[in-house]
Amino acid sequence: MNLDLKQNLQGKSTFSKNNPITGERLADYINYSQYEVEDAVNNAQLMRAMWQQLSFYDRKVLLLQWAKYLANNLEELSSLVVRETGKPDADAALEVALAIEHISWAAKNAKAVLETQSRPSGILLFNMDSKVQFMPLGVVGVIGPWNYPVFTPVGSIAYALAAGNTVVFKPSEFTPAVGLWLAKSFEVATKTKNVFITITGLAETGKYLTEAAVNKIAFTGSTKTAKKVAASCAQNMTPVILECGGKDPVIIAEDADISLAAEYALWSAMANAGQSCIGAERIYVHEKVADRFITTIKKLALEVKPGVSYGPATMPSQLQVIEKHLKSAEAEGVNFLVGGPNSIQAPYVLPTIMLEVPETSVAMTEETFGPTIAINKVKSNQHAVDLANKSNFGLAAAVFSKKHAEEIASQLECGMVSINSVFSFAGVASIPFGGVKESGYGRIHGPEGLLEFVSAKSIIKPKFQGPLKLTTFSRRRIAEKITTKVIKWLHG
Ligand code: NAD
Repeated sequence: MNLDLKQNLQGKSTFSKNNPITGERLADYINYSQYEVEDAVNNAQLMRAMWQQLSFYDRKVLLLQWAKYLANNLEELSSLVVRETGKPDADAALEVALAIEHISWAAKNAKAVLETQSRPSGILLFNMDSKVQFMPLGVVGVIGPWNYPVFTPVGSIAYALAAGNTVVFKPSEFTPAVGLWLAKSFEVATKTKNVFITITGLAETGKYLTEAAVNKIAFTGSTKTAKKVAASCAQNMTPVILECGGKDPVIIAEDADISLAAEYALWSAMANAGQSCIGAERIYVHEKVADRFITTIKKLALEVKPGVSYGPATMPSQLQVIEKHLKSAEAEGVNFLVGGPNSIQAPYVLPTIMLEVPETSVAMTEETFGPTIAINKVKSNQHAVDLANKSNFGLAAAVFSKKHAEEIASQLECGMVSINSVFSFAGVASIPFGGVKESGYGRIHGPEGLLEFVSAKSIIKPKFQGPLKLTTFSRRRIAEKITTKVIKWLHG
């Protein structure tokens, strides 16, 4: 039985979602107004006490029921992902599978990470019992993108729920049905209402969510929008996590396994039509192995078929950005190893590889978000690291080397590095995901991803009345003297 995602559109402002391949209208959805967004947030606020008061065990049971529902209905959800994004079936199924892993991890680990902790009180206050309690924030507003419409928002939603918050989710206007399915499946699997609500709409609806009575915003999307979201959240001091774009480098050292590096770097750049925040956009290859690498990747790239290996540009306007980057590279005298400015064949983009692209070119400085890649030769590992770090972005990176990979990885200014592999950190639920610089701040996934959705409260009480009473006007001179002596003895 397929979930009923019908909204009552009567008298509502609506928007249309079109088929990304044919451009035909698929369906209309409610464009939530400010009042409707506030209403949804109020409903989630009303449920926060109930959800918060459940034990970790009870929330775990409910979240695992949801994970089970997703696993049992994986094909239904992944077919919606295919319908709305145009990506191949197998890619959609993999995305859903990874999201289920994250729900399960968050459910099973929330207690261990967020249980009240005892902390040592130190010598001066040895008579005190010190504890840290992790308080759920309340209602978390999640704003999502379209490129991984299940995996990406679930990285915030599942962790926020596991930490005891209720959630209002605004999916991308390019993937509204996927967003509605996620909340509906949660409702059906857990038999709860208003714990996880999806509101559909355009950019303005997202803005209303940032202005509403939410206790945190978890945003994933472009850096340009992230800055607006942060500015809007600042008005109410609403804390925010920003998961934004990238310009991820791949470093290929002299001692790298070249076939492996070519195979993985190509997939990283072109899978999902290059519409991956953690997709490779720049390759820095050691000059001594560059020719071999270039020959290998070219051969592999010629086998990649748009419409089979990957889908269309899900957001039609992205084609103009890709074209702009390719055309400026051409104007700057860049050689195309595969494809060229004519690679844009709407709604698809053909695989495109550029060689020796000036570091100042927009094709090197801005996120292209297409199946394109630039390959530049470097003189040394250090040279590669310097160029990789020059970017304003700092999301993820990949390093291929037999002996120097960890040394290179430790010098990279970014949030995640995969060694002799690509994307793998996204599938490991126990490690954090997020970026630095213009790629954003805050972390989803792992213990850090749970801690994002709580506030730490320190609670301290005397186990017995100690000899050094310092916080009273009847403090004795001897107490002050002992305190100073102890501090000098400890730290002097
Ligand atoms: P986008 O910034 O255009 O939109 C993201 C979401 O923000 C959408 O739901 C949109 O409706 C909403 N929005 C737009 N304007 C808003 C505003 N003023 N206030 C509040 N919400 C607003 O991004 P996109 O095109 O949907 O997604 C692609 C981008 O997302 C790429 O840059 C990609 O790199 C990035 N991304 C990052 C990650 C990550 O984890 N770092 C993951 C996936 C995608």
